[in-house]
Amino acid sequence: MNFYYCDACHYCFESKSLPDRCPDCGAAEHNDKKAVRLAKKDEVDELLRIRAEDNE
Ligand SMILES: [Zn+2]
Repeated sequence: MNFYYCDACHYCFESKSLPDRCPDCGAAEHNDKKAVRLAKKDEVDELLRIRAEDNE
């Protein structure tokens, strides 16, 4: 499982492979670049932190 990040809506999510478009906002491109890219480490950390809080 990899983590991806949408630059259009700042949504971070897990997926097996890079999707064509964001599963949240549906954007395919953002500022003439692909909207969805691999998430950086700090973005993954943030996602895991939010998830841990939701499970409390
Ligand atoms: Zn999005």
